[in-house]
Amino acid sequence: MKDKIKKIYDMIIIGGGPIGMFAAYYAGLRTLKVQLIESLGKLGGQLEALYPEKEMINVPGFAKVKAADFIKLLNQQLNNYPVDIKLNHTVENVKKLDDVFQIKTNNELFYGKTIMIATGIGPFTPRKLPFDVGQEVENKFISYYVKNPKKYKDLNVTIAGGGDGAIDIALELLDYAKNITIIHRRDNFRALESNMVKVYNSPIVLETPYLIKSIDYNNSKNSSITIEKVHESDKKKTILTDHLIVSYGFKANNRLQQNWNIELQRNLVKVDQKMESTCPGIFAIGDANIYPYKQKILANGFGEVPIAINNAINEYSLTANRNIHGVIQ
Ligand SMILES: Cc1cc2nc3c(=O)[nH]c(=O)nc-3n(C[C@H](O)[C@H](O)[C@H](O)COP(=O)(O)OP(=O)(O)OC[C@H]3O[C@@H](n4cnc5c(N)ncnc54)[C@H](O)[C@@H]3O)c2cc1C
Repeated sequence: MKDKIKKIYDMIIIGGGPIGMFAAYYAGLRTLKVQLIESLGKLGGQLEALYPEKEMINVPGFAKVKAADFIKLLNQQLNNYPVDIKLNHTVENVKKLDDVFQIKTNNELFYGKTIMIATGIGPFTPRKLPFDVGQEVENKFISYYVKNPKKYKDLNVTIAGGGDGAIDIALELLDYAKNITIIHRRDNFRALESNMVKVYNSPIVLETPYLIKSIDYNNSKNSSITIEKVHESDKKKTILTDHLIVSYGFKANNRLQQNWNIELQRNLVKVDQKMESTCPGIFAIGDANIYPYKQKILANGFGEVPIAINNAINEYSLTANRNIHGVIQ
């Protein structure tokens, strides 16, 4: 088995939320060879997925900072060190072999001397339409977030949803898409007021209160969506759509780690003062862990990072023979 192992990392960090991102940076700063694994297509965890527009007021050093802007800063900081990052990989299993951990994602195997669990409230998956659309439509016609706005150049784009996520996407695509329609089941939107003003002053078409009832996909040419007015099923409209973006938020599932041979409490990893789990070599930080009087806020999670990493370095001799900065405490 060991013969097949190509690379052994000092530390594998599972979860690229704010705490996993800072842990990857800090481990890099301490010269560790790090692999960061994130299940979504983007780093940033809850801040990016659930509340990108929120102005946070309890982050040290900022009187207030928008969640999405804070993640940008963490990304810049992370880029200062060579950390391997795998996106779109969900860690499904963690197994102890002789002297390394084997991490199995939905796509690949990774090996590490230590593991840092920073999975927060668990991997997020996007909420989907309430009816089955079939695999072809799912793959070719629907997206859940925008990775590259240029992909939507000159297209008729329909966005489903009424929160910050949907409105952010609509504004982001304004410079690219031919037409943008937002479909929301309520007349009121739950998005930042200043962004709504931008929407109302733009050519974006708002269809409310409507729900998507069916999709007529035609190999992405002349495709359309049928919408129905809420509580008035006789009122239907057909909207010409080249691509549909569903922005109904994300749901989380933190039950995966039940099989990782570590003690859990309410699906959170029980840790000691070193932030180490009941399995030696597996640490947990941020929203993923639990100990008496734990508070799930960023400041707490960031504080746990150096505690866990210093302990991992010293307990497992991670920087032995390459202590280039002198004595590491
Ligand atoms: C609405 C709301 C508002 C908040 N406001 C504030 C605030 O103002 N100030 C504050 O300090 N805190 C706030 N919090 C709390 C704060 O968001 C969390 O404490 C913080 O996100 C924890 O970061 P984390 O990195 O531990 O976890 P998360 O942000 O949950 O990130 C975990 C990451 O791990 C990934 N992941 C999970 N499982 C796996 C797996 N098996 N394989 C690969 N990847 C995986 C997830 O996709 C996710 O990206 C708020 C929370 C919410 C919900």
